[in-house]
Amino acid sequence: MSPIYNFSAGPACLPDAVLKQAQEEMTDWQGAGISVMEMSHRGKDFISIAAQAEADLRELMAIPENYKVLFLQGGASAQFANVPINLLRGKKGADYIYTGQWSKKAIAEGKRLCDVNVAASAEASNFSVLPAQSEWNLNSDAAYVHYTPNETIGGLEFHWTPETGDVPLVADMSSTILSRQIDVSKFGVIYAGAQKNIGPAGLTVVIIRDDLIGETVSGMPAMCDYKIMADNDSMYNTPPTYGWYLAGLVFAWLKKNGGLAAMAEINARKAKKLYAAIDDSGFYANPIDLNCRSLMNIPFTLADAELDAAFLSGAKEAGLMTLKGHRSVGGMRASIYNAMPEAGVDALISFMADFEKRNG
Ligand SMILES: *Cc1c(COP(=O)(O)O)cnc(C)c1O
Repeated sequence: MSPIYNFSAGPACLPDAVLKQAQEEMTDWQGAGISVMEMSHRGKDFISIAAQAEADLRELMAIPENYKVLFLQGGASAQFANVPINLLRGKKGADYIYTGQWSKKAIAEGKRLCDVNVAASAEASNFSVLPAQSEWNLNSDAAYVHYTPNETIGGLEFHWTPETGDVPLVADMSSTILSRQIDVSKFGVIYAGAQKNIGPAGLTVVIIRDDLIGETVSGMPAMCDYKIMADNDSMYNTPPTYGWYLAGLVFAWLKKNGGLAAMAEINARKAKKLYAAIDDSGFYANPIDLNCRSLMNIPFTLADAELDAAFLSGAKEAGLMTLKGHRSVGGMRASIYNAMPEAGVDALISFMADFEKRNG
């Protein structure tokens, strides 16, 4: 049987080796006699799984000592609220950078809790070019600056880190975390839903500088308080144990495969060849400015949208799954996170060339 490649934007494919290990350990984790799913989160086996996962993530991302790493539920969407709840700290407002549909959602949720200043926007370019830092109208009294380093739906990515001086920088890294090395010390908060580049849905990773927590907006639920979560090692209540375990397997897999430096190299290569296949054809197109193209999520259209259905069904027959673009964008989208092998991208490119030959 030829391999199946799943280009889903999220929940996305996981490394084969990770799924196989999880399968082997499914009913009896390393001789414990039970599944990780059935373990108490307070028992020594799960505590060791949790601690190892955190240690490996810290090593992979070189997370400084003065940052907490939280393993939470609620998705990135819950952090859209938890960020203002924890970071306002007496201030009235925050700056947001509007670059697409995920930052739009973050802005909408931010507005429920504070004065949102949209300091820069990509709307004028129909979200094809990121606003340069020189065009940002940052407010020096903002509690934080929020941005979305990779817009998963639009396929727009920052290849630079904004400068915000003393104002903490907050990043929704759901679809770019672990794709390459970043300097964590430049950020106040990094958060990510796991289902793109970390593990299964249901787990959310939050990395936060420890001086930023401890002063939530009053009257908020305990579950929203990063300090309570940090003080309890993310076990104030039952954490998403199985997702945490699987994330740990992914972190170990990343370490074994050369860490983020190796991922960065492979990811750059995968994206480069897929964009080249799009740009070199007269049949496929990607609308994003060359300097702002996402390495993880690559939307593209066919010369004739009438051919979309035939493209998708042919691709599926060739083992290339979930290429349909987001319902708001149309066309196709190939998500090529860490777990997508280079061979999967090669298979897609060769299918695209063949489809163009037959239909172009
Ligand atoms: C997927 C995604 C989200 C939403 O994540 P949930 O975990 O479903 O809340 C938010 N931001 C970005 C950038 C995403 O890619």
